[in-house]
Amino acid sequence: MSVVGIDVGFQSCYVAVARAGGIETVANEYSDRNTPACVSFGPRNRSIGAAAKGQVVTNCKNTVQGFKRFHGRAFSDPYVQSAKSSLVYDLAQLPSGSTGIKVMYMEEEKVFSIEQVTAMLLTKLKETAETAMKKPVADCVISVPSFYTDAERRSVIDAAQIAGLNCLRLMNETTAVTLAYGIYKQDLPAPEEKPRNVVFVDLGHSGYQVSICAFNKGKLKMLASASDAALGGKDFDEVLVNHFCEEFGKKYKLDVKTKPRALVRLYQECEKLKKLMSANSSDLPLNIECFMNDIDVTGKLNRGHFEEMCAGLLAKVEAPLRSVMEQAKLKKEDLYAVEIVGGASRIPAVKERVSKFFGKELSMTLNADEAVARGCALQCAILSPAFKVREFSITDVVPYPISLKWNSAAEEGLSDCEVFPKNHAAPFSKVLTFYRREPFSLEAYYNNPKELPYPDPTIGQFMVQKVVPQANGESSKVKVKVRVNVHGVFSVSSASLVEVLKPTEGEEPMETDLAGKEDEVCVLCFGSGKMIMQDKLEKERNDAKNNVEEYVYDMRDKLHGLLEKFVSESDRDTFSLRLEDTENWLYEDGEDQQKQVYIDKLAELKKLGQPIQERYNEAEERPKAFDELGKHIQQFMKIVEAYKTKEEQYEHLDELEMLKVDKQVNDAMIWMNSKMNAQSKHNLNQEPAVKVREIQAKTKELDSACNPIVSKSKPKVEVPKDEKAEQNGPVNGQEGTEAQPGSPEKGAAGGTAAPESAEGNKLPEMDID
Ligand code: ATP
Ligand code: MG
Repeated sequence: MSVVGIDVGFQSCYVAVARAGGIETVANEYSDRNTPACVSFGPRNRSIGAAAKGQVVTNCKNTVQGFKRFHGRAFSDPYVQSAKSSLVYDLAQLPSGSTGIKVMYMEEEKVFSIEQVTAMLLTKLKETAETAMKKPVADCVISVPSFYTDAERRSVIDAAQIAGLNCLRLMNETTAVTLAYGIYKQDLPAPEEKPRNVVFVDLGHSGYQVSICAFNKGKLKMLASASDAALGGKDFDEVLVNHFCEEFGKKYKLDVKTKPRALVRLYQECEKLKKLMSANSSDLPLNIECFMNDIDVTGKLNRGHFEEMCAGLLAKVEAPLRSVMEQAKLKKEDLYAVEIVGGASRIPAVKERVSKFFGKELSMTLNADEAVARGCALQCAILSPAFKVREFSITDVVPYPISLKWNSAAEEGLSDCEVFPKNHAAPFSKVLTFYRREPFSLEAYYNNPKELPYPDPTIGQFMVQKVVPQANGESSKVKVKVRVNVHGVFSVSSASLVEVLKPTEGEEPMETDLAGKEDEVCVLCFGSGKMIMQDKLEKERNDAKNNVEEYVYDMRDKLHGLLEKFVSESDRDTFSLRLEDTENWLYEDGEDQQKQVYIDKLAELKKLGQPIQERYNEAEERPKAFDELGKHIQQFMKIVEAYKTKEEQYEHLDELEMLKVDKQVNDAMIWMNSKMNAQSKHNLNQEPAVKVREIQAKTKELDSACNPIVSKSKPKVEVPKDEKAEQNGPVNGQEGTEAQPGSPEKGAAGGTAAPESAEGNKLPEMDID
């Protein structure tokens, strides 16, 4: 089982994994822990993450970002309609009425569902985790904003399923942060003591979330959450973009908003400027070359002016802070700390407002970018049977009050009941009892549409079927279980009586209704498999093309450098010409060919290049090979000499055989001299007179002829018994070391090693089973 936490941000995604050593945020193939939430569609393939981000300007119409908040929304949704006007890519309505993303992909117009696009991103993040863990990943915990409604959550679950992920829990982003904060704290108050209350603030690119959490030893309980789903770093960017659009309109007579490419570049530069202004309060420049109609534009701004322009946005910081405090009925003195995370929380004016509201210095003890992913990975570790994590109970809250309404025969009309008030503990199940003679339906809905950042308060309709009167004609008792599950999704279930009318993908799926839905999901999965294959083929094709290109450049350099001496002038001219032709071909007819064409092209070039390269390699290796042969000849010569002078060491060797050795050595020396001689008369640009492997073979031949003869051992002389024991003792030395294992030194070393490695960011009391 894999233990992975995924933060799918509006702008940036992070993946954290649990390993034996603890929680670790892992880097993608660009060695970056931040993967942009971006998917780019091309004529041949898709790119996802950092590669897609690189296409935001060049392929702006088909590069999709900022789609997180389209989850679970109809195309007609006011949020979607208003976002549509500021996007450079197109949206379209899917047959189901939900939001689709329209792009040109593989030279065809395609409309992808938002679940499919997020699934593409999740697939990339899954691969990042797999590369880091070197094993397949399925089980994970994925974060969602705490203000997400049922429809949005269900849509993210669908996306995870398409990506082949088994999402064990959709975790509210701020809850993930509280877990990342609390689980490592050793000094939390005992369960019976007054809890430690901490406020968590997350200002991301698209949303602003605030929660209050009460910590005791071994548990955290969310007390309240509040949000402004329409406040984030991107709104600050928007202010800057509008400012410069106006300025450039006046100064250069440019209508930036008519040119998607220019607009995208302006967004990028404004975001950079915004970040610079966080660190610097002086005037800062904004320059873009060839911005529009070949005009270079320049502007400048400082933090003070920026803050004035953003006064409206900054004024929105306070309301959610006030709201959580009121909901939790806490006073400022009841707070232990205010922790702040999220990229946009780095804006100094935002920090000031939060700090001023609480009359407190802010704490920034968590990693502002990675805390969400790390919290999710911790939750996954808690849920995983493969890890033993310190007992830590997490109680979340229901963000919006949920009611049920039904037709009541007795009361003649609609009855209504709030089943989960705001901030009710979650996950949670309740059993409701009805008395009925016949089937009846229940409708679940959010009863306070005003506070909902979503236009439709309906959650779903649930039909309770097969209800019949009792034998005596009286109403039957029908028990209905309602539940907010671990994903924060509402569902209704009751023993075999209930059937769902409007499908919900709660954790207790109603088979009859879900079948249709599952079919659809399978089609989407199939589609994504095909796209992955297409990406792979395209990558191979590109690699094949790059190989040709690289070879051309590499050889062109070497022909006038390293390889110069190894090719005749006329061959070099021919080859150079071929390389030049190939280079031109790559920019013309060869720009866009099948993989095999490139492979063939490379083979043709190598036919010319390989012999030259080989002559070079031979010349490099030849002296070493001769040297080696020479050494072996000398070594055997010495033995022959020693034998002839009757040295004691060799006197046992056989005379006839030693004559053979002598002859072999002489032959080898003659062979070597003649080959060296021949080679010295050879030009380096010709086939060598002798190949390295022939020299090596000669060395081997000499060895195998002579070694068995000269290495024959002397006949053994019997040594008296006690003398033998004395001799062998120190040589073997085995007994000494074998006696060691139980020794005190070794035990002590083992004992100190364990606690040392348990330090660092190791999971609290976590082990792999
Ligand atoms: P969300 O949480 O809304 O889904 P996200 O998780 O992708 O979005 P973050 O990565 O937390 O968002 O934050 C991104 C935002 O933070 C961007 O608007 C970015 O410009 C902004 N940001 C990052 N660093 C700074 C900085 N130093 N000063 C100002 N803004 C910054
Ligand atoms: Mg975020």
